[in-house]
Amino acid sequence: MQPIRTFNVSPSLPERLEPLRTLAYNLHWDWNVETKDLFRRLDRDLWESSRHNPVLMLGTISQERLEEMAEDEGFIAQIDRAARQLDDYLKERTWYRKHREKEKHQECFVYFSAEFGLTECLPIYSGGLGLLAGDHLKSASDRGLPLVGVGLLYQEGYFSQYLNADGWQQERYPINDFYNMPLHLERDAEGNELRIEVDYPGRKVYARVWRVQVGTVPLYMLDTNIEPNNPYDHDITDKLYGGDLDMRIHQEMMLGIGGVRMLKALGYEPTAYHMNEGHSAFLALERISILIREQGLTFKEAKEVVAASNVFTTHTPVAAGFDLFPHDKVMHYLGHYADEFGLGREQFLALGRDNTGDLESPFSMATLAIEMASFINGVAKLHGEVSKVLFNNLWPKLPPSEVPITSITNGVHARSCVAKYTQELYDRYLGPKWSTTPAHYPLWERVDAIPDDELWRNQDLCRAELVVFVRERLQKYLRARGASFTEIDASREVLDPGVLTIGFARRFATYKRATLFLRDLDRIKRILLGLNNDLIPGGKTALRKPMVQFVIAGKAHPHDIPGKEMIRHITHFIREQGCEKNVVFIPDYDINVARMMVSGCDVWLNTPRRPREASGTSGMKASMNGLLNLSILDGWWDEADYVRTGWPIGHGEFYDDPNYQDEVEANALYDLLEKEVIPLFYNRDEEGIPRKWVSKMKDAIRLNCPLFNTARMVSEYATRAYFPASDRYYAMSANGCQPAKELAAWKTHLFERWYDIKILDIDISESDDVKVNQSINVKALVDLAGLTDSDVEVQLYKGPMDADGNIINGVSVVMDYQGTDANQQSIYTANIAYSSSGLQGLSLRVLPKHPYLSSPFQPGLQVLWANA
Ligand SMILES: *Cc1c(COP(=O)(O)O)cnc(C)c1O
Repeated sequence: MQPIRTFNVSPSLPERLEPLRTLAYNLHWDWNVETKDLFRRLDRDLWESSRHNPVLMLGTISQERLEEMAEDEGFIAQIDRAARQLDDYLKERTWYRKHREKEKHQECFVYFSAEFGLTECLPIYSGGLGLLAGDHLKSASDRGLPLVGVGLLYQEGYFSQYLNADGWQQERYPINDFYNMPLHLERDAEGNELRIEVDYPGRKVYARVWRVQVGTVPLYMLDTNIEPNNPYDHDITDKLYGGDLDMRIHQEMMLGIGGVRMLKALGYEPTAYHMNEGHSAFLALERISILIREQGLTFKEAKEVVAASNVFTTHTPVAAGFDLFPHDKVMHYLGHYADEFGLGREQFLALGRDNTGDLESPFSMATLAIEMASFINGVAKLHGEVSKVLFNNLWPKLPPSEVPITSITNGVHARSCVAKYTQELYDRYLGPKWSTTPAHYPLWERVDAIPDDELWRNQDLCRAELVVFVRERLQKYLRARGASFTEIDASREVLDPGVLTIGFARRFATYKRATLFLRDLDRIKRILLGLNNDLIPGGKTALRKPMVQFVIAGKAHPHDIPGKEMIRHITHFIREQGCEKNVVFIPDYDINVARMMVSGCDVWLNTPRRPREASGTSGMKASMNGLLNLSILDGWWDEADYVRTGWPIGHGEFYDDPNYQDEVEANALYDLLEKEVIPLFYNRDEEGIPRKWVSKMKDAIRLNCPLFNTARMVSEYATRAYFPASDRYYAMSANGCQPAKELAAWKTHLFERWYDIKILDIDISESDDVKVNQSINVKALVDLAGLTDSDVEVQLYKGPMDADGNIINGVSVVMDYQGTDANQQSIYTANIAYSSSGLQGLSLRVLPKHPYLSSPFQPGLQVLWANA
């Protein structure tokens, strides 16, 4: 039945409860324990059944309950306190003010992401990338950055998971009801829905705009499920990463191009754009197009402005992880940009093509993003190194160590992932600033002041809460599946709140090897059944009682059959080995399940195939709660103090044979469990406290909490990426973009002459044998081919030689220009010395130089080296 009219009916709140509406619509409640408590207190059952959605709750709660609570003075006082806290929070923008004097600029940073994991009642995320984006916005708000988020609002969101009786993952796609979520529909001055339009082949697609307020940061999301879009276009924002390649392009066009148009329609004039992964890279095309249309720039000039102010973060360590599109599709959907830019087909496709010489290689969104950005980073130190190698071909002849891709290690939002009681404990002993204070501040020394017994009792409490949570959740899912009464009844008794609890939860992608711990059935059974308990101090008394339990959760991508097989493997193992009590799989992993697990377990297990885990963040959440990590040295863990705050599995080896790798690493895991983890956990003093364990917990809090924190991460993005990008934007666009025009013209001039530059002669003062610190004079004669000394930099490049005859970890020394000789050839000189002995290499190279260049290493421009 189609309605003749629709109404958006909002709840009518008694006057004294009116502040609840404001509180519900700002996600600040998600990381403010007091406000969360408030909603829980209003109606505990409804809070749970609404999936922690205060807006839905206010819309469905009975009028009697509202009237009743309006008379509850304690509740009213709590509302007032929460409202005041939100007010105060919104006024505080201290970090940005303190670190950026240039506030007069009215600058604005925008953050584009295909998914955002903010809170459980907004299921528009699939995993780590989304959570990271959500935490980025929360910390940007905490730091007072002038930042706005841009994304898509998915009608179906990501799926809910349940398992059939065979343990096979089933997916259900709940429909998001936007009107009952903490979302605002943006309207224009006349009060009509604000709409933008994006050109697709043969038609326009319209989208409206929803906003979710994340503290001070607005996140705007596009929704194409409106008239007069055709049914196919309705579905552009239907599912996260849904559909085939064509749908993927449709989505990415809406995100990138639609996103830029939306910002304009909303009146924003961003000065820095952050592409969180390559999905949004089409935004660069639209930005260039606007500059061409509105400022009359050429493509090259516009590209200078755009690249100067774009920031790109890559999240995958393997080439197969990038979005790739066939040429014909790119031309079909985006060819009009090529026409507008005055580029031929090949020139346009080259914007997204790697530089391996293969003209057939598909159009890569990551390459486009790199081509269109001036700051590029990976998400952990190791991932930064891997990315330099992965993208090396875009900077031909540049050693990987110099590829201009850096890293900013991910983090997590402390107030969102630390359990309520634990937050209160930290507040008490460290003061409320712990959640944003950097490392090496005296505050962190106060961790030692937390009494061992208090920290341990808190851990016991969190574990007990997890056990209750797991039991309830299992019962609920078993009932829904129509499981037998015995099975449901048995689930009331799973887990033991006093037993060492190991958590494993993440997407079930195969490289994460969720089933590695099951590799040797005999060994894992011995551990699970407590057959080795006599090895453990005090274990004799508890002989043959399970001393370890595993809590596991995670979703496989709907098309990932091997991932789903891993889930089934685990559930079959549980049943066949009779481990129902101490190995549990919790269905439907989400932010809430994650929160319970990263606080209620004791150890966080991670077994990715190095270096596939670009960063990983769940282990950071666990560490902030005082859990100890037990993990392969990959992602963030590789750069953490893994000896003091947990245990490394292996030593960061690479293997050629995955089977052999699995065997070695599974055995290392069993050894650690038997010899280190279990004994340390059960080594109790007369008060029942595992002192050494607690001391490791304190190290985890003290060392990891300040580092792997989005407060640190966002500050780093601000100072290293956003501020410089924003400055470059102002610089490039001043005086009708005069500097951009100058730079583009200079680059054309440079590129035309570049390959005619010749290194004619190099004169080195010493012979092959020199002493450490002995001075060596070098003189070079260079034919600059019509360029001048101010266009280029001539450098010596020196460093130790590797076995293949290459200079490794080279450092550059700028040579001094000494004018020209009689033949008008340029003379450069330098004086160097080697500070360490051994076989050392020396080379010479020419690089471009211009005050407006953000880096001397330009994509596509080959560095000129002296020939050996
Ligand atoms: C933190 C989190 C993730 C990311 O975990 P990884 O360890 O990075 O795989 C995924 N999903 C949810 C729900 C999370 O809370």
